Order: sequence, then C-alpha cells, then structure tokens
Amino acid sequence: MSARIIDGKAVAARVRAEVARDVAAFTQEHGRAPGLATLLVGGDPASAIYVGGKQKASAEVGIRGFDHRLAEDASREEVTALIEALNADPDVSGILCQLPVPAHLDGVELTGLVDPRKDVDGLTPLSAGMLALGREGLRPCTPEGVMILLEEAGPTLEGAEAVVVGRSNLFGKPMAQLLLGANATVTTCHSRTSDLPAVCRRADVLIVAVGRAHLVGADWVKPGAVVIDVGMNRVDGVLRGDVDFDAVAPVAGAITPVPGGVGPMTIACLLRNTLKAARMAAGERA
Ligand code: NAP
Repeated sequence: MSARIIDGKAVAARVRAEVARDVAAFTQEHGRAPGLATLLVGGDPASAIYVGGKQKASAEVGIRGFDHRLAEDASREEVTALIEALNADPDVSGILCQLPVPAHLDGVELTGLVDPRKDVDGLTPLSAGMLALGREGLRPCTPEGVMILLEEAGPTLEGAEAVVVGRSNLFGKPMAQLLLGANATVTTCHSRTSDLPAVCRRADVLIVAVGRAHLVGADWVKPGAVVIDVGMNRVDGVLRGDVDFDAVAPVAGAITPVPGGVGPMTIACLLRNTLKAARMAAGERA
C-alpha cells in the first residue's frame, strides 16, 4: 500500500477541540452558549441515531441542545409553526431539520423555511445561492468537511483537475462549488456520464459520493491522485465506501478510509457552523 491514509477521525477531533475552545470563549463573552435545535419528524431509527449523535456532540463542546421530536403524522402546519418559533428564539443559533421527513411532508420546502442565518446545514436556497456567488455564508457540512481534509492531505487545489462523482443538492453540487472557489478545474459526474472511469482517471482529486459500494476500482484512479470517499453503504452489516479501498490504496497518493474518513467530519463541521451562526447573530465576524 502506497497511499497516505487521511485520518478523518483525528482531523475531526482537532476541529471539535477548536470549536470547544471557541465556544467557551463565546459563552464567557456573551453570557450564553450557542444553541443548536434539531428537529426530527417521525421515528426513523437511523435518523434518531443521527440526531442523538449530533446532540451528544454539541453537548461535548458546550453548545446548548434543543432536541425537538414530532410524531410521524405531524402536519405541515405543526412543523412549520415549530420552525418559525425556532427562527424567532434568540437562544437558538442553528436549526437542523433532519431529512428525510415522512412522505406527506416536503423536506426541501421545510428546510427552506429555516432562517438562512440559522441554516447550519447550509441547505436553504439563500445559502446555496451565496455559495454559488462565492459570498460568505453557511456551507453544507459534508463538503465543508471534505475541504478541510483536502487542506490536510495537501494537494494544491489551484489549477488541479478535480472530479466529483454525484450531483446531489446535499453533497455533489456544493462540493463542486467549493472546489471551484478554490480555483480547481471541476468536472461533476452523474449516472448519465459517458465513460465515467476515463473521466475519473483525469482527476488529481477524485471525490466520490454515489451510494454504491466499491464502484471505483484501481483502474479508475490516476497514480498519485487524492481520493475522497464519501459513500456510506451497509453491505451484510458492514459499512463500505464507494471506493474499493484495498484495490485503490496502492495506486492513489492519499485516500480516506470508510469508516473513519469523511463521516466524522460532518458532525464536526455542524458544530463549527453552529458557532459561526452564533457569532454572526452577535454581530461578530465568523
Ligand atoms: P444521492 O442524492 O442518492 O445522489 C447520488 C448521486 O450519484 C446522483 O447524482 C446520481 O446521479 C449519482 N449516481 C448514481 N449511480 C451512479 C453511477 N452508477 N455512476 C455515476 N453516478 C451515479 O446521494 P447523496 O446524498 O449525494 O449521497 C451519496 C453517498 O454519500 C451515499 O452513500 C451517502 O450515504 C453518502 N453521504 C455520506 C455523508 C457523510 O456524512 N459521510 C454525507 C452525505 C452523503 P443522478 O443525479 O444522475 O441520479
């Protein structure tokens, strides 16, 4: 194996320690801690675990948690009223509406109701627009986490060929925008891309977020490339990435493992965003 392993767990721990330090300073200065409200509609077990993890991580860095849970059959009006109350609550710096929501609700519509100044998931139309315009704003947590890992891995993004596989609003599109902002030459691929392996082989930086276990093999990767695997796939109870790690590691220059790569960065960046939102609300530069 030749690739350097990018240790997302270690980087996330460092980010969380920095956030904890800065939250303590913020709390002392302003007399109240930043607050993160999570909103979960229904009883999806995986979502309940994610929300619980986010609340636990918040408490660990000194962020105040507001854990709101509504019944599976909660009406649009009920959810809307709660989001509006959280928008108006000065103790709440950030709001996260856990997706997916039950089928009778529209997750995109509900996310869009969050005050963009509290949009710690970076998913409202205003946050997406600010990113597209290259203006300051709250960024989606997973792509932001990947940018931190890329800084850590050390490739020069300026002028590099970056290929993002996947074009979701949650990850692929904002990832491509962030890379463009860092002056990479960016190609975004999807299920209709012709000759995907050939496009991937051009990449100095290859980022894969598809949701298909071991889609990317060694012959998709340029020797020495930095490979970031965002995929999380349960196969026979085991968590696997979109990249065949054992096959690709001898070819790549650096690579993230699954688990322990991108995953831990998402919550770390959510905590960072909550502090950033609190600072912006207090009129400070984030
Ligand atoms: P998504 O909304 O399902 O999007 C998947 C994307 O992959 C789509 O753009 C789709 O193309 C493309 N795609 C599907 N099959 C393909 C193929 N055979 N070749 C090329 N492209 C293909 O998924 P997502 O929310 O972006 O998530 C993707 C993966 O990342 C999942 O495994 C998810 O669990 C993981 N994830 C992890 C984190 C984390 O915290 N670590 C966060 C977010 C996502 P079309 O647009 O043409 O359909």
